[in-house]
Amino acid sequence: MKDKIKSEEIEEDFDNIKEEDISKEVHFKIDKDAFKAPFTCHGRKTILVGKKLSIDGIDFNYSVWQCKTCKKEYLDLEQGRKLEKFWVFKRLLEDKVITIERNMNYDGKTFFFRFPKELTKDLHKDDLVDIKLLSPEGKMFLVEIRHGK
Ligand SMILES: [Zn+2]
Repeated sequence: MKDKIKSEEIEEDFDNIKEEDISKEVHFKIDKDAFKAPFTCHGRKTILVGKKLSIDGIDFNYSVWQCKTCKKEYLDLEQGRKLEKFWVFKRLLEDKVITIERNMNYDGKTFFFRFPKELTKDLHKDDLVDIKLLSPEGKMFLVEIRHGK
């Protein structure tokens, strides 16, 4: 019963979350076909330029492909992914990540939890889950879902 009340509260919270709240900090959308370097701009090949971002004294280095003529910057897939991770990291530091509380389940053998259904629309049975351990005591994880075959 307790479980049910909790998940209803969560569903209600999710109704108030707009896509722009989640992606506000992500300035670059990653599209796998649009990110093949080197890019051409103004009829010339763009050049790789080192960039630096800083939060709370932590430096983050990445590269962009820049047009020598108009200075427009292009991100390739690898750097785009790196930058996306940086925004995640920044939101974590600022405590601005959406946090969902779930009850721990135990079937006598295995511990597991359920994903809120709002987050499972694009999941498939064959997807793979990468669990990255973030703290030595094993209570903080980063869970990333990859499309399996
Ligand atoms: Zn240009």
